[in-house]
Amino acid sequence: MELWYTEKQTPTYGITMKVKETYVSEQTEFQQLDMIETEEFGTMLVLDGMVMTTDKDEWVYHEMVAHPVLYTHPNPKKVLVVGGGDGGVIREILKHPSVEKAVLVDIDGKVIEYSKKYLPQIACGLEDPRVEVHVNDGFMHIHDHKNEYDVVMVDSTEPVGPAVNLFTRGFYQGIYDALKEDGIFVAQTDNPWFTPELITNVNRDVKEVFPIVRVFWANVPTYPSGLWTFTMGSKKYDPLEVDESSIPEIDTKYYSPRLHKAAFVLPKFVEDLIK
Ligand code: SAM
Repeated sequence: MELWYTEKQTPTYGITMKVKETYVSEQTEFQQLDMIETEEFGTMLVLDGMVMTTDKDEWVYHEMVAHPVLYTHPNPKKVLVVGGGDGGVIREILKHPSVEKAVLVDIDGKVIEYSKKYLPQIACGLEDPRVEVHVNDGFMHIHDHKNEYDVVMVDSTEPVGPAVNLFTRGFYQGIYDALKEDGIFVAQTDNPWFTPELITNVNRDVKEVFPIVRVFWANVPTYPSGLWTFTMGSKKYDPLEVDESSIPEIDTKYYSPRLHKAAFVLPKFVEDLIK
């Protein structure tokens, strides 16, 4: 008997993939957590029926959350990740020697626990001495830590369930207050095909808080539409003013000094969402 997992990316459209084995299927305190082995993408973390990360393509998203913002800030020392319990963004942050402390705040300890067990090549950085892991609501953490971070990365689930507060103007104001006077933040902001209004609304809200706002994108095959966007809000440094020749070639498979600015060149239908 064949077993297939289907993610409904809209009520009438989805992707389906053949499953070899189910490792975990558990309703945690916050969400349905499934860890499955798929033929095409290897081990896959699914939360509330949505693909979070997979063995095969995880490095695209994790590199693009971490490196554009960390090479825009001239000397990032203290970094916060809201969400990101699979550890992939933390692994990428640790490639920056200037970072002295990386704080991860994920609301669901089960994501961290099962990612360590079934996605060790993604969660490997969570044990690093520079890393501090908290199980908490990122919305609360942000409001309790003013003027503390050089960079904040929001690697959350979609704006439903526990992450609904992480896409609000109040949260962006909280991030602004948690950042130092020259801090920068980046958040994953979904896709222009099925959630165009989210990109537009987040851009509007972030522009009310930050003087510099930029949107960039990457190709993530297992995310809805494959065209994934990220929104950066900065108090002082503009990613488009970085001298690419100052960006070192590091151990990556998607991000590069050549891609740093190119990622901010948007297709016209995406430009139109943030005009
Ligand atoms: N890359 C994925 C994406 O773009 O959808 C996100 C992956 S990461 C596993 C998402 C994490 O956000 C989950 O582990 C979830 O527990 C966490 N999360 C959701 N709401 C949160 C909140 N309010 N505070 C902290 N973490 C939260």
